[in-house]
Amino acid sequence: MTPRLVLVLGDQLSPGVAALKAADKDRDVVVMAEVADEAGYVPHHPKKIALVLAAMRKHAERLRHDGWHVAYTRLDDPENTGSIAGELLRRAEEHRAGEVLATEPGEWRLIQLLDALPLTVRQLPDDRFVCSSAEFARWAEGRKSLRMEFFYREMRRKTGLLMEDGQPAGGQWNYDHENRKPAPGEVAYGGPMQFTPDAAVEEVLDLVAARFGGNFGDLRPFAFATEPGQARRALAHFVSEALPRFGDYQDAMLESSRTLYHAVISPYLNIGLLDPLEVCRAVEEAWQAGDVPINAAEGFIRQIIGWREFVRGIYMLQGPDYTASNVLGHDRDLPAFFWGAETRMNCIAHTVAQTREDAYAHHIQRLMVTGNFALLAGIDPARVHEWYLAVYADAFEWVEAPNTIGMSQFADGGVVGSKPYVSSGNYISKMSDYCRGCAYKVKDKTGPGACPFNLLYWHFLDRHRARFARNPRMAQMYRTWDRMDDARRRTILSEAGDWLARLDAGETV
Ligand SMILES: Cc1cc2nc3c(=O)[nH]c(=O)nc-3n(C[C@H](O)[C@H](O)[C@H](O)COP(=O)(O)OP(=O)(O)OC[C@H]3O[C@@H](n4cnc5c(N)ncnc54)[C@H](O)[C@@H]3O)c2cc1C
Ligand code: SF4
Repeated sequence: MTPRLVLVLGDQLSPGVAALKAADKDRDVVVMAEVADEAGYVPHHPKKIALVLAAMRKHAERLRHDGWHVAYTRLDDPENTGSIAGELLRRAEEHRAGEVLATEPGEWRLIQLLDALPLTVRQLPDDRFVCSSAEFARWAEGRKSLRMEFFYREMRRKTGLLMEDGQPAGGQWNYDHENRKPAPGEVAYGGPMQFTPDAAVEEVLDLVAARFGGNFGDLRPFAFATEPGQARRALAHFVSEALPRFGDYQDAMLESSRTLYHAVISPYLNIGLLDPLEVCRAVEEAWQAGDVPINAAEGFIRQIIGWREFVRGIYMLQGPDYTASNVLGHDRDLPAFFWGAETRMNCIAHTVAQTREDAYAHHIQRLMVTGNFALLAGIDPARVHEWYLAVYADAFEWVEAPNTIGMSQFADGGVVGSKPYVSSGNYISKMSDYCRGCAYKVKDKTGPGACPFNLLYWHFLDRHRARFARNPRMAQMYRTWDRMDDARRRTILSEAGDWLARLDAGETV
């Protein structure tokens, strides 16, 4: 029988991924390739490239050990054609294979690329998700709006997670009212588990330094897990040391603690080193054992079987044009301080510096600092999307785009969220200690030292009044704006306009 090629992409490193399940060890050839196209279509953070390449190499070794024939192309291989399509065509000729088994990629660009190949390609549904794309489409059909909370309840019922006799454990579906406390004075957790690079990882680090050293982001120190056993240890460490306080301080930000009580497992989940249900079961067990309160366990499980599954469903449902959405017509360039240029805004400077060093920022830093700023300032969502896709180690389009285009920039007009996530400096001041070290004053609403978030917040609401004034969740904000006297409103708008003009002129703002 002629062999088939079994494509395994860099974020499909799970042992039971669909294409492998459908393949035959004795007949088929697994194709894995480190290609310049994938490493370079946005300027990925060097840590992200290193994580994916190191984990791919180790995965290929495990597959060989399990008896698979793996045709692996290294980045510096002289025969490397530089693209997934090129590598598949080359391997098809080499092994006289006419058919490719693939697990459907998490990016429309690649799905379309595989469809267009002059080979027979079977793209199999990626069953590493609790909810398949087809099931999500059925759930979405006929609904006026798609809300995560209702979808999440379906996923709780489907998985049985935190369910007792068909009812939510503890009597409630959602314990968020007990979460979201402001930043604690101190964090009693040393952060995620770190891994010293072994020889295989060091080899990749040298390669990445030579090829991508100029990209935004520090390559070293590199401490990510690159194999499933390490990722499971990192998960166990999080569950025992940090999870009990995860819910309480989920939205808090502190200069002295970059990760607070967050898990930092998204890179591992997204490339396949961890399985989402395995993660949720570990959290449920810790709750059952009495080690973790219900608000933490439920809040965490909701992020995975709720938000993570929901955004993937949206991405697949919306199709390839989703990333070009821009209902608010925002067109400002991404300011240079997103790439590390100086800014006087301490919250942004801190979040960008951390992103450069760690390829990680937690959800509220992404949503309420950089994302909030980009939305208030009217930055082109396509540029914002490219930035998030490039700079975080966990960034893959199926999860990044709905979070950025939808949740954070409201560029999809409300598919992901029912209102835009905008706030003045007050929210950042309440949830973090960033304002203390800032050149701006968060208490100043106008004047030379006024926090730009305070000015831009009203500027945003005013310029998008026609779209948002009738949104019941925003009515209170517009009432507050309307109650201000005319002169004050004019001052705010004119100072916001001046500030944006200085930003556009490239001044350090
Ligand atoms: C603008 C923006 C861009 C984002 N881009 C990405 C991205 O590229 N990749 C990515 O995995 N997440 C993204 N997120 C979601 C979220 O910020 C990260 O999943 C989270 O910060 C990962 O860190 P953690 O593992 O410490 O998460 P924790 O806070 O400990 O949460 C646990 C897990 O829940 C899941 N999760 C939590 N929130 C979300 C969410 N909104 N969407 C999907 N999964 C979620 C993640 O898998 C995460 O590992 C983005 C959020 C925003 C606002
Ligand atoms: S004062 Fe404003 S700009 Fe400065 S850290 Fe606080 S929110 Fe950010």
